[in-house]
Amino acid sequence: MGEPEGPTRILVTGGSGLVGRAIQKVVAEGAGLPGEEWVFVSSKDADLTDVAQTRALFEKVQPTHVIHLAAMVGGLFRNIKYNLDFWRRNMHINDNVLHTAFEVGTRKVVSCLSTCIFPDKTTYPIDETMIHNGPPHSSNFGYSYAKRMIDVQNRFWGASHWGGHSGPPGLDGQAGAYFQQHGRTFTAVIPTNVFGPYDNFNIEDGHVLPGLIHKVHLAKSSGSALTVWGTGTPRRQFIYSLDLARLFLWVLREYSEVEPIILSVGEEDEVSIREAAEAVVDAMDFHGEVIFDTSKSDGQFKKTASNGKLRAHLPDFQFTPFKQAVKETCNWFAENYEQARK
Ligand code: NAP
Ligand code: GDP
Repeated sequence: MGEPEGPTRILVTGGSGLVGRAIQKVVAEGAGLPGEEWVFVSSKDADLTDVAQTRALFEKVQPTHVIHLAAMVGGLFRNIKYNLDFWRRNMHINDNVLHTAFEVGTRKVVSCLSTCIFPDKTTYPIDETMIHNGPPHSSNFGYSYAKRMIDVQNRFWGASHWGGHSGPPGLDGQAGAYFQQHGRTFTAVIPTNVFGPYDNFNIEDGHVLPGLIHKVHLAKSSGSALTVWGTGTPRRQFIYSLDLARLFLWVLREYSEVEPIILSVGEEDEVSIREAAEAVVDAMDFHGEVIFDTSKSDGQFKKTASNGKLRAHLPDFQFTPFKQAVKETCNWFAENYEQARK
């Protein structure tokens, strides 16, 4: 990892969620390196909105590295309902995790932003330099602003990256020192819409693909129609959780910038919600009627992101084809129906 010596102890917050489970799987399948100790935690180990519980966890684990995934997460409709909770809970979690990691001497933290935090009014494709260029979409402004503050806070650890200046106002020579003298790198990745095994398949709260998979399952068992919410015209770039997990390991080990990096399939792989629904319908062999409920919100029309920076680093990385990844996720849901979050 570019650091001189000593054991590498990697704490993964949010280790029980969609992305955390995918990282567990790729590590268990051989992506872990000798000398690495991986510790995956959930809210049962510590409620990270609570500073005392966060400190107790970090003092016990003493992580040299942190992958910070823990967050209040949800699809469009949960965001619309609970904007305030998304803001407050995620602000508390993020400040507790980042500051406690600093206090216990963690060398590197990789946090997780999202392409839905970018400005709503923007040019396309969106890139890493555009995070703070304007207000996010109103449907998820609580979640978005809390995520954006991770990027702000990261720049205090790596103050030499602050807008090309030596550091945030008033902190020259202090915050910068954490990065320059101690090699602290607090950075973040920016994934697009993630899906895969262990997703939240709750129809009201979850994201579009797990929601549609659950709905098709119910439509098949009751012989009813599939209702897709909205017009089906919005566009999304989907990333399979296992591909994201592999990219996370690369960022942890190789990526040395404080500036975040977008982890996404290419612009040409963006699909409409209608196409995403068709992929689920095909994968689950559903032959019933498909209805679009246009009384439901479409949310942000698109958030097309450039993966140019990722491709400059990893030109040969192979993403799992979308239809194959959807099929694997549908199979996982069918095989794990009882235990799946729904
Ligand atoms: P998820 O499946 O809902 O998992 C959330 C994780 O956070 C769980 O492990 C949960 O623990 C933990 N957590 C929630 N509140 C906590 C608290 N107060 N204290 C401690 N742990 C807490 O979410 P995900 O989809 O894997 O998301 C992981 C990261 O990726 C998040 O930062 C999210 O914002 C980001 N992201 C997700 C997507 C997406 O499409 N899903 C897209 C872009 C970015 P329990 O299991 O104990 O509840
Ligand atoms: P977003 O990408 O952050 O907007 O979040 P979602 O993953 O929730 O995707 C929302 C988009 O999918 C909107 O255009 C919705 O209208 C559409 N959509 C269609 N059916 C569903 C569904 O069953 N659940 C969800 N969450 N969204 C759906």
